[in-house]
Amino acid sequence: MYELVVETSTNLPYDVRRAIRKAKEQENAGTRAALSLATITQNIEMADDNVLPICQDTGMLTFEIKVPIGANQIEMKKDIYEAIRQATKDGKLRPNSVDSLTGENSGDNIGPGTPIIHFEQWEEDYIDARLIIKGGGCENKNIQYSLPMEIEGLGRAGRDLDGIRKCILHSVYQAQGQGCSAGFIGVGIGGDRISSYELAKKQLLRDVNDVNENTKLKDLEEYIMEKANTLGIGTMGFGGEATLLGCKVAAQNRLPASFFVSVAYNCWAFRRLGVQMSAITGEINNWLYQEGEKVSFKEEDNKAVAQQEEAKEVVLQAPITEEQIRELKVGDVVVINGDLHTGRDAIHHHLMDHDAPIDLNGQIIYHCGPVMLKDSDGEWHVKAAGPTTSIREEPYQGDIMKKFGIRAVIGKGGMGPKTLKALEEHGGVYLNAIGGAAQYYAECIKKVDGVDLMEFGIPEAMWHLKVDGFRAIVTMDSHGNSLHKDVDKTSFERLQQYSEKVFA
Ligand code: SF4
Repeated sequence: MYELVVETSTNLPYDVRRAIRKAKEQENAGTRAALSLATITQNIEMADDNVLPICQDTGMLTFEIKVPIGANQIEMKKDIYEAIRQATKDGKLRPNSVDSLTGENSGDNIGPGTPIIHFEQWEEDYIDARLIIKGGGCENKNIQYSLPMEIEGLGRAGRDLDGIRKCILHSVYQAQGQGCSAGFIGVGIGGDRISSYELAKKQLLRDVNDVNENTKLKDLEEYIMEKANTLGIGTMGFGGEATLLGCKVAAQNRLPASFFVSVAYNCWAFRRLGVQMSAITGEINNWLYQEGEKVSFKEEDNKAVAQQEEAKEVVLQAPITEEQIRELKVGDVVVINGDLHTGRDAIHHHLMDHDAPIDLNGQIIYHCGPVMLKDSDGEWHVKAAGPTTSIREEPYQGDIMKKFGIRAVIGKGGMGPKTLKALEEHGGVYLNAIGGAAQYYAECIKKVDGVDLMEFGIPEAMWHLKVDGFRAIVTMDSHGNSLHKDVDKTSFERLQQYSEKVFA
């Protein structure tokens, strides 16, 4: 179980690697999407080489386990808990289980409801254990539809295959880049609200390249793959050709009164693996999703890094002046050297009514909850440090920037109109880092200068970091421009083309 947890967190499966390589081939060299994919693939290799988390967001661990009759599931659960505790201690997982009422972090990823473990008996004499680690950014983009209904841009969706088609296309549009696109979707049709979502999530356990045995659903999957990739959302929502990397659909019976279509959205960091184990010794006899050749991105990355270096870049070093910020425009690539301070949900909430622990005038806030490990000398080390979804800070961000004189925020997925207005009034920028590129950014962090507000737990504390060569893209500037707003608008226009009936 320890091996399964560590491998899933650090090494992307072969079928997912192949899908990402295909996306790279689709993107035009030198575009923002191509550069982002290059960072992603570099990150995949770094995580694999160093056996460290692909993404800092450990997300929810869900086990689907088939056991022979007579297997002791109570003992197996204990083994799973132990493996997770050890992997957390070893920095392979971030402590990610939080009390829903108090916000207290359990510290070891174990708590009521975490992890999720489903057992099923089968007639075979071995154990089939599959694990999916699904991050919060993409989990928040899951969506459920109840047919019949009106769908924005697509009109009426009825209780038929064409209505289902509209739901799935819309699900990709509404996710934009916020679930760290390009993504994979699992779709569940029918059931009740809960079993419909469960069926959707189970589809993520299918091989990316399998072919649906149900010909109607096979056609639907192919249609969605083709059309979703014309929406132009692209990697991270920067615009581009590759938006969806996989679509798997399944149906189950429903009540005559209900018709649910549920979509489980998974980011590019599609961490799911499986093993077949001896029920007697626990020995792993076979790894799943690892058929064929393992795609290595190393050579392609060298070319992409060269292209990245050729792109026009602006160097930023805090403290930053308003004049420097006003010169930046959407699309500029910035390289940050010097100080960065992390801040996510708890910090933003706290800063609304409290003073900051340090002077934030001219500084840069990074929406990030890193994986940190303390060595025997008491020194902190960063093990993974990609951006978290920024839109959660929308209610606070503009006010906090103005209150403390913050000039730039880094995150992923973009922010809304309130922040855009504040950037214009105050003179600030939003910088989009590549979601999930936790190893790539961890390597840019040269020193941990200290930490404040540790009472919020490791991911939520304010970490003071020294960085070198930290690259991000200006996606919202101080002149009222937002790449996120533009991509949303064009993808919505393209979505509307698909309102006509296609499936009988
Ligand atoms: S890649 Fe993005 S959505 Fe996926 S786990 Fe990481 S931060 Fe979350």
